[in-house]
Amino acid sequence: MDEMNQDIIITIDGGAASGKSSTSRLLAEKLNLLHVDTGSHYRSITCYLLQTGCEASDLAKIEKELKALTLNTEIQERNSLLLLNDQRYEASELRSDAVNAQVSHFAAIPAVREKLLMYQRSQVQVAIDRGFSGLVMEGRDIGSVVLPDAPYRFYLEADAATRQARRAKEGQQDTVLKRDQLDSSRKQAPMKIPEGAIRIDTSRMTLEAVVELIFSRIK
Ligand code: C5P
Repeated sequence: MDEMNQDIIITIDGGAASGKSSTSRLLAEKLNLLHVDTGSHYRSITCYLLQTGCEASDLAKIEKELKALTLNTEIQERNSLLLLNDQRYEASELRSDAVNAQVSHFAAIPAVREKLLMYQRSQVQVAIDRGFSGLVMEGRDIGSVVLPDAPYRFYLEADAATRQARRAKEGQQDTVLKRDQLDSSRKQAPMKIPEGAIRIDTSRMTLEAVVELIFSRIK
């Protein structure tokens, strides 16, 4: 147990384009952490289910497809990447317009979330086994549902204009507000500020300032 307590476990939740990914990446680099982006898990499953011809309303078919699906991890530098039946989707596929439009609908399905929950929790052990100093996991329900006992939990926010501008700068068509609305209103594991999490408004902060602030809470 003592050994476990020495590992740095950080959760970063927040809406689309709130700054989670850049912040998590830099934290992982500075602190030698495994970076787990759970948004990419939901995006991967969405790609897979769309390819098998499922729509988000086909609950029986989705459950059948999920049963046949194995989840594994590939580590690239500090990134934990999800393999579905030993295959990995490219970033361009995960961030396509079709996935941006569909992912929140698939992520609201309890069977999809159940498929990922234990896998996501198991990433703590993956980080330890692979010699990282801990893990930073980003998403919507990490501090509230996936790792509620994590010692360092943060919730990032940014105003709507800033978030739309960030996505536009990345050349992406992404209706961030619509996704946030769907993500925070679903029944299972809705996006919310985890109890006791530190809230950071990143709208007018540089990435370095956000990371410094988090860093100061951890040291
Ligand atoms: O973080 P990202 O914007 O890539 O997440 C894509 C989608 O995945 C979110 O809009 C949400 O529907 C879903 N998601 C989730 N729970 C998480 C992470 C992402 O439901 N922990």
